[in-house]
Amino acid sequence: ADDLVRSVHRILSHADEVRRLGVRTNADTPEDSARARRFGAEGIGLCRTEHMFLGDRRQLVEKLILAEGDEERQAALDALEPLQKQDFLEIFEAMDGLPVTVRLLDPPLHEFLPDLTELSVRVAVAEAKGHADEGTLRLLAAVRRLHEQNPMLGLRGVRLGLVVPGLFAMQVRAIAEAACERRKAGGDPRPEIMIPLVGAVQELEAIREESEKVLAEVCAHADTPIDALIGTMIEVPRAALTADEIAEYAEFFSFGTNDLTQMTWGFSRDDVEAAFFHAYLDKGIFGVSPFESLDRDGVGRLVQIGVEKGRAARPDLKLGVCGEHGGDPDSVHFFHDVGLDYVSCSPFRVPVARLEAARAALGAERAGS
Ligand code: PEP
Ligand code: MG
Repeated sequence: ADDLVRSVHRILSHADEVRRLGVRTNADTPEDSARARRFGAEGIGLCRTEHMFLGDRRQLVEKLILAEGDEERQAALDALEPLQKQDFLEIFEAMDGLPVTVRLLDPPLHEFLPDLTELSVRVAVAEAKGHADEGTLRLLAAVRRLHEQNPMLGLRGVRLGLVVPGLFAMQVRAIAEAACERRKAGGDPRPEIMIPLVGAVQELEAIREESEKVLAEVCAHADTPIDALIGTMIEVPRAALTADEIAEYAEFFSFGTNDLTQMTWGFSRDDVEAAFFHAYLDKGIFGVSPFESLDRDGVGRLVQIGVEKGRAARPDLKLGVCGEHGGDPDSVHFFHDVGLDYVSCSPFRVPVARLEAARAALGAERAGS
């Protein structure tokens, strides 16, 4: 077994000498970050902060979103900030010296709101007992106002950041404070701040301005300079088509090919297993799910447009991909060809991505294709 491990290591280090594409990982815990680093990841390409708000913290996000006034909202933000700061401190430590792309909150809202049916039942039970449950009634009205038929196309990402005052600023402050603290302790944190679901440059412009202000405040207060890049995901077709405008406010792009596939095909990500999908595979409309392997003719064209327009506007724009396709061998060849700087994939797919990136650099055809 030792011999096998040694030869795998030899092959992978040879691959590293040959490849041009960088390989990062999608990770949102220190454990995953450390594991990915052992597998050879050269940083984090996507840290999904919404995963940090599940479990016990779900309640705080619920409070924040449903807050009825500034005071309630601020209390929820104040409770969340130190927790976020600790999350980032641990991740910066695990990825010391390597870039960490932190994506600001992008939750499908329904995962954080109380269940509408459950609330309705509670109200009905109270009524049947002859009294009105005022608290639940108020909550029910608030949840109804936010209820969406298509949460994945709804109040997510930058939209939530624009609608909930202080939310993104709280996250940026936590990132900046964690980075300053690490730097003061002799570490080398390399934060990159990523705005999700941008479709119009104005969305990015607004969040960028707010983020830069917070970064400057924290750095001045801590008397520690932090050089944090600010960039965006390109995952809404409109963002790819207007990438030249968007690049003026972004130091990097990361293509979110999961959402880009959903929105380009008009297929719901949540219903990929829907009946028609199998029929499409059976009839050969596509050979493999476009959510697994990049559809070059549609989604790939949008990626190419985004790359060309983005680089034309900003030649030093850093370009990556962090959708599931970042770890798919066939897609890695496409990303090499289109000129991305890096792919980002789950920790366990990092070695495959390193190997496939080398094969792409050598101009090798995909094995078996
Ligand atoms: C994407 O959309 O490709 C992406 C990486 O973001 P998420 O899967 O979290 O929406
Ligand atoms: Mg996405």
